[in-house]
Amino acid sequence: MGTGHSAMGWRSGVIVLLAALAVAWLVGAEFRAKHQPDDIYPGPGVTEVRRLSDYFPALTGSPGDTDVFILEGDAPGATVLVLGGVHPDEFAGFMAALLLVERAQVEQGRLIVIPQSNASGFTHNLAGEGHPTHIEIETAGGVRRFRYGARATNPVHQWPDPDVYVQASGQQLSGSETRNLNRAFPGRPDGTLTEQVAYAIVQIIEQENVAMAFDLHEASPEYPVINTIVAHPRMMELAVMVVMDLEMQGIPIGLEQSPEALRGLSHREWGDHTETLAALFESANPAQGRLRGRTNVELVLEGKDAQYERAARLGRLYVPFGPEGHPLESRVGRHLSTLRSFFEMYSLFHPFEGIVVTGVPGYYELMENGVAAYLQPPR
Ligand SMILES: [Zn+2]
Repeated sequence: MGTGHSAMGWRSGVIVLLAALAVAWLVGAEFRAKHQPDDIYPGPGVTEVRRLSDYFPALTGSPGDTDVFILEGDAPGATVLVLGGVHPDEFAGFMAALLLVERAQVEQGRLIVIPQSNASGFTHNLAGEGHPTHIEIETAGGVRRFRYGARATNPVHQWPDPDVYVQASGQQLSGSETRNLNRAFPGRPDGTLTEQVAYAIVQIIEQENVAMAFDLHEASPEYPVINTIVAHPRMMELAVMVVMDLEMQGIPIGLEQSPEALRGLSHREWGDHTETLAALFESANPAQGRLRGRTNVELVLEGKDAQYERAARLGRLYVPFGPEGHPLESRVGRHLSTLRSFFEMYSLFHPFEGIVVTGVPGYYELMENGVAAYLQPPR
């Protein structure tokens, strides 16, 4: 009498167990994929690949360690540092740095590029924001696939957050900011993972005698500091010339001096703690905004959003937002044109110690040909 029931119970138990295993396998595969490093193909200009831990050995084997690409020209000149992925969900910053690694050739001086500055932040994403886990870009030679990270260090690697984050300067921030690399500068050698990564980056600036250092970011279209260069006071003179140069090229861009009270931010602390000239760039990424509609890969790549068009018509944004949106090529193009202009202006003033870089597409080339045209095909 009971046999029919128990057989059915046994069978449904197996089915539930198999279903649970299937879900765990699927989710686990996605989880593990976030820990697989992205393929980055050093281009013809890369002369050496180092690790961040080469500058601060305590990071060896840690989830904060990351590749540091060196592109050294034949002629001696200035050393320039470019960071992408300080905030891994600001995709254009990572992509602009990646294009430098895969395309740039240095004729004079030396370029040091870190595309994934907060490596731990690339191992998770903001699922609650509906952000994609990966972004695929189709090149002529096949599909390139990249992780779309989160803003901050993975809590799996740095936990728990304190209630209040007391920054190295003594400034108090909310606890979750303890995992924000762009609040951690100049870093602490005995601090959290995030502070150690910040410390290692400052070691590069000091040990390599970096003349100019750049930090590539994105922000939501309703954020006031957008399509803007934020420059340390010592960088302002050069930045003013860059803004005029970009205006003449038809690329309007704002300029702001790093506020004194913004402790922990790259442009502020690098300039205060080292000799380098520091600046941060922001482009407009609707995938980060609060007003956006559907969030998906297309939003990150094409940057089109009807809600943002409406907000722009109502005068609520700090950037124009038309039907063409803010596609990835325009955001990467802004970053790269701005960098190129800084290289040129710096070299005007320091002709014998300049930085001359070729092979880097600017705004108009990227708008014409798209990002994919400048990525190397998958190997
Ligand atoms: Zn950012």
